[in-house]
Amino acid sequence: MQGGVPKLQEIAPRNPMPAQPAEVRNANFKEVALGYTEELARAEAERCIQCKKPPCRRGCPVEIDIPAFIKLITEGKFLQSILKIREKNNLPAVCGRVCPQESQCEKFCTIRKKYGAVAIGRLERFVADNETKAKEEGRIQAPAKPTTNGKKVAVVGAGPAGLTCAADLAKLGFAVTVFESLHDAGGVLRYGIPEFRLPKHILDVELDYIRALGVEIRCNMVIGRIKGLEEMLAGEFDAVFLGTGAGLPYFLGIPGENLNGVYSANEFLTRVNLMKAYQFPRYDTPVTVGNRVVVVGAGNVAMDSARVAKRLGAEVTIVYRRGHAEMPARLEEIEHAEEEGINFHLLTSPVEILGNNENWVDELKVVKMELGEPDESGRRRPIPVPGSEYTIEVDTIVIAVGQGPNPLLQQTTPQLKVNRRGNIVVKEDMVSTSIDGVFAGGDIVTGAATVILAMGAGKKAARAIAGYLGYPQDEPTEDSN
Ligand code: FAD
Ligand code: SF4
Repeated sequence: MQGGVPKLQEIAPRNPMPAQPAEVRNANFKEVALGYTEELARAEAERCIQCKKPPCRRGCPVEIDIPAFIKLITEGKFLQSILKIREKNNLPAVCGRVCPQESQCEKFCTIRKKYGAVAIGRLERFVADNETKAKEEGRIQAPAKPTTNGKKVAVVGAGPAGLTCAADLAKLGFAVTVFESLHDAGGVLRYGIPEFRLPKHILDVELDYIRALGVEIRCNMVIGRIKGLEEMLAGEFDAVFLGTGAGLPYFLGIPGENLNGVYSANEFLTRVNLMKAYQFPRYDTPVTVGNRVVVVGAGNVAMDSARVAKRLGAEVTIVYRRGHAEMPARLEEIEHAEEEGINFHLLTSPVEILGNNENWVDELKVVKMELGEPDESGRRRPIPVPGSEYTIEVDTIVIAVGQGPNPLLQQTTPQLKVNRRGNIVVKEDMVSTSIDGVFAGGDIVTGAATVILAMGAGKKAARAIAGYLGYPQDEPTEDSN
């Protein structure tokens, strides 16, 4: 190796992430991935060839200078490395854990095809966790509060979109108040993604950082009920950002969905995460799933629900109407679920949920499917096989077939333009809504997507809000991004 950068033929294989063994982790809620050691992090960072025009940066919606933070790791400057990331990303420990890097930054990495992409996400997690340790040991202080410019912005929703917008605006000197309807901040990061993928204390550390920038987070504030949008603009605030997400679950529309023991994934995961059922008996709010759980769906939310149910002690089966290749979840999530002993009934679709005399779910009637021609989504359409119905005995069913926006804001603010799915319509700049001074981003605009896309929208909106309030910011150029 010359000058710290490997020649192509010297590039070592990608370093695997240490993890709890599958047969141990499927019975506890501790984090599955254990994080790189310093030695592994430096070895992985040394795989980066420091491209002159780094394509990885194009794949990062929050514009991190990826080669720069990786180079600082090779030099052992871990605290400088996290500061480099924090110039752009306010939630690095979260992103390092849950971003689908394989379809973002790592997808574009120059060495991906031949040697496997540099593990950018794992390195981001390493420096973020190293910073947390340094804070806990009193080696570094919270960031200084920026000087305020007197303008006030309200952010509705404390998910990744809202938190990113709030933190970026605070860094620019705006006084920001975040209004969150739930009793704790984080959005899906708090109530959806399970503890074993994103521990709550990691999220708390990220929130401490955002609060230290001067952002006020007010929980238990349902905007549209307690306070209206117009009232906010007419009174206290100069602009509003809406990052209310897609928290309304979809159902199957089959008989029996109202029986006891049938949950939406949203309710199931919220009860376990936000109400701390994963810490039973320390918290007196258990979720009793019985011995047999069926999860309907095969996206990331379904995988999370299945793996949570497994950890609550059940035998878990995923029922999905298409085949293995069509499952929408990330490959890694499917592999983790398979390793942990989740059963899969593929090409199988629910027909009816049957209950006992006390209206508790008892059986799920399903039908076998076969795949026909591709439909408008490009995936092959599932067609029922006549006469192939059978039943599965079950104590709990979790429906994980997607979610959409909550209609409350639109119902209470009819001038707010939404499309037929209920998502807020934005103008060409992708963040301005039909109401002057009101901006929006994240799942409420795009429909259910990813953490990093929501954060990218929050960042874009912060720039637009600053411009709207008379503090224009430079747009990132091809070179800076
Ligand atoms: P949200 O995270 O939904 O946050 C919106 C917030 O607004 C919520 O806290 C909500 O309570 C609040 N709110 C809503 N209405 C109001 C109101 N009227 N007043 C005040 N507050 C309000 N993405 C990934 O990239 N990687 C993953 O591994 C991943 N796993 C996921 C697992 C699950 C179970 C789920 C459900 C989603 C997952 N996603 C994942 C998707 C990702 O979490 C979302 O795309 C992302 O959180 C969207 O961010 P957001 O800020 O737009 O909305
Ligand atoms: Fe390093 Fe890959 Fe980015 Fe090139 S594309 S700078 S090798 S991380």
